[in-house]
Amino acid sequence: MDKLKLQWRIFVFLLGFCLLLILILWMFQTTFLSDMYRFTRKIEIDKAIRLVEQEINNPTLKDILHEIELTKEIMVRPTQDFAPPVQPAPGRFNHRQPETITQVQEFVLQDGSVLSLTFYAMVTPVDATVSTLKIQLIIITGIMVILATILAAIISKHISRPIEQINKGAKTLAMGNYEVKFHGKGFLEIEELSDTLNTAAVELSKVEGQRRELMANISHDLRTPLALIYSYAEMMHDFPQEVTPEQSQIIMDETKRLTSLVNDVLDISNIETGTEKLNKTNYNLTASLQKTINRIGSLVKNEGYQLDFVYDKEIYILADEVKITQGFYNLLLNGITHCGSDKLVVVKQILKDNIVRIEVIDHGEGISESNLPYIWDRYYKVDKKHKRPIMGTGLGLSIVKNIIEMHDGEYGVESQLGKGSTFWFRLEIVK
Ligand code: ADP
Repeated sequence: MDKLKLQWRIFVFLLGFCLLLILILWMFQTTFLSDMYRFTRKIEIDKAIRLVEQEINNPTLKDILHEIELTKEIMVRPTQDFAPPVQPAPGRFNHRQPETITQVQEFVLQDGSVLSLTFYAMVTPVDATVSTLKIQLIIITGIMVILATILAAIISKHISRPIEQINKGAKTLAMGNYEVKFHGKGFLEIEELSDTLNTAAVELSKVEGQRRELMANISHDLRTPLALIYSYAEMMHDFPQEVTPEQSQIIMDETKRLTSLVNDVLDISNIETGTEKLNKTNYNLTASLQKTINRIGSLVKNEGYQLDFVYDKEIYILADEVKITQGFYNLLLNGITHCGSDKLVVVKQILKDNIVRIEVIDHGEGISESNLPYIWDRYYKVDKKHKRPIMGTGLGLSIVKNIIEMHDGEYGVESQLGKGSTFWFRLEIVK
């Protein structure tokens, strides 16, 4: 039954429903018909008795009894005069004698005397009706089976066919054909399902494209420093007397570049697979940010960059300091990488109620509106050209997003092309 196709399942259910209806009809129309008829006759006699009881002293009682006899076919006679009417003898076609109901009831009259009346009714045999009904029911059963089959075919055509089509499409999607289009029509649910699958196909193809691009970038980023490191190391090995500090500096720089690249890739996969757990402590956020700013500030000071930190008072938050620092570090580094000719990055700490908002502001190239919704995606890079000095994996903001989400915080960006960007995140503070 579990593996039955939808079409057959609908058919079985419909047929079962029809058969149940017919069974109920059969029971009531054939088996119970005589019983029910007898029962209604009894009720009618009881009603007649009650009516006579009320009208026993009425001078028009005779007329009332006459009316009962005419309309309800119930004979009412004084008991001493009562003789049941003669029944026709059983013949060839009527094998059964009709059943009768006789009930004697005593009534007390106004003058105190007692009047005994006999109520008599016939229960006409319903055999003929039953056999007519049986033929009718056989026909109805046939019609219902045919109707159930037609209905099952129509319903399954409307429901199972689009599902089968969507299923076929989904299979090709699973095999990697992201061009597949789903056109589920007919039901809201099916339309929604195909919309969802169409969106999923678009998203999957986007991720696939980004993954390919990342692989190309990463292999490029790995190969170049590795080649540099190898050739300089080889040179130092072959001509140890000619080693200059610049050469070893190049090896160190390239190694650092490789390390940060590998770390980014590891961080994002750890965060996304959920293997990274938060290690929350109550710590001084302001001091922690200041430390990061100072560390990076002193590294980039020589190149003319200036990092400012604006805040009112020191605040504490309950969070994972290492992770928040990592997220902030990514924003700060992006700010420096994309800052304008003023080479200034401003960090603001704004406290409102029990929410702290950290802003990283630069006055650089900004981000176009068409790119804004995607910059938080994994592997997304605005500038597809692979410029060496601005080396990025497209993972930095995705790491920020994941870290802030893990802390139930909010994040966002306001940016204007040519004017600069303000990246921000908000977290709840410890009161
Ligand atoms: P990447 O490693 O490429 O910097 P990110 O996820 O950190 O990756 O950033 C995604 C993209 O968003 C970057 O390619 C960059 O073009 C853009 N971006 C990030 N920060 C800024 C900024 N402060 N100003 C302008 N563009 C930015």
